[in-house]
Amino acid sequence: MSIAVRAPAKINLFLAVDPPGGDGYHSLTTVFLAVSLFDTVTVSRVRAGDGLTLAVTGPESAAVPVDSTNLAWRAAALLAVRTGLDADAAITLDKQIPVAAGLAGGSADAAATLVALDGLWGTAMAREQLEELAAELGSDVPFCLHGNVALGAGRGDRLSAVLSRGRTDWVLGIALGGLPTPTVYAELDRLRTQRPLPGANDLTGVLTALGRDDPELLGRSLGNDLAPAALSLRPDLRRAMRAGEEAGALGQLISGSGPTVAYLARDAEHAITLAARLSAEGLFVSVRVVSGPAPGPRLSRSGR
Ligand code: ATP
Repeated sequence: MSIAVRAPAKINLFLAVDPPGGDGYHSLTTVFLAVSLFDTVTVSRVRAGDGLTLAVTGPESAAVPVDSTNLAWRAAALLAVRTGLDADAAITLDKQIPVAAGLAGGSADAAATLVALDGLWGTAMAREQLEELAAELGSDVPFCLHGNVALGAGRGDRLSAVLSRGRTDWVLGIALGGLPTPTVYAELDRLRTQRPLPGANDLTGVLTALGRDDPELLGRSLGNDLAPAALSLRPDLRRAMRAGEEAGALGQLISGSGPTVAYLARDAEHAITLAARLSAEGLFVSVRVVSGPAPGPRLSRSGR
């Protein structure tokens, strides 16, 4: 028997980062949006005692670990420990979400693995139990389990509801190479000791725009405190940000810790025009047209 679950990528429409606390972690205020770029996690039954195996396929599989450091593996191991079951399953990740791109691909896989194995192993976990496991796996995993749109506090793991009326259309510019999230936070701390930085400051604008389905207001309100750090580490992204303005995007921002740049379009048709213009700039390894909100991990196929 096997079960397949689709796991959407996320972008952050707003990300405000506090200075680090005593434990070295930064408190965040963020608006997450799940978008229509999906990994697929497939889990299959194996013989009792065979343990876990992991295979990674797809266009974004190159830099993904296939051992117990993979977040999908960690999710499987954690679910087994908590339910007292033997961790016996074959896991396959079809990676469409670029790695270390600020799109939370690893967290998405972890959330989808919890849902898929809960089905395969028949553990019938309550939603709250899955949420607890998600929070243990990483600060983006609870949102990846939730999907759609949400406001995140704490490390991004304390979620609350956001009213969102319509669909939003985006172009994702996938830049060459990744940016490790801890390096970007360290760069932010370093830059903040040197000078005041422009930051994200219009949370109300983002929330009002989502509630009213007002893409123009949303475009003006997008913000990310990590942008100066990502731009300092990757100066090439400045051109990518300018290219959005020139191509007529309603707004653009670096997604999470980057280096992906998300450009907001007026509607689906505008997103296609925008994608064509941005592709012609030759700044990205790939340009993807996506929309949000996308639902969280759901069973997409199950069979024998
Ligand atoms: P975030 O914004 O949550 O930091 P990201 O999108 O920038 O995430 P990921 O794609 O999740 O980054 O990958 C970060 C690192 O995690 C990778 O460099 C990789 O070594 C490791 N990793 C572990 N499991 C996975 C997975 N299932 N898919 C991708 N990367 C994984």
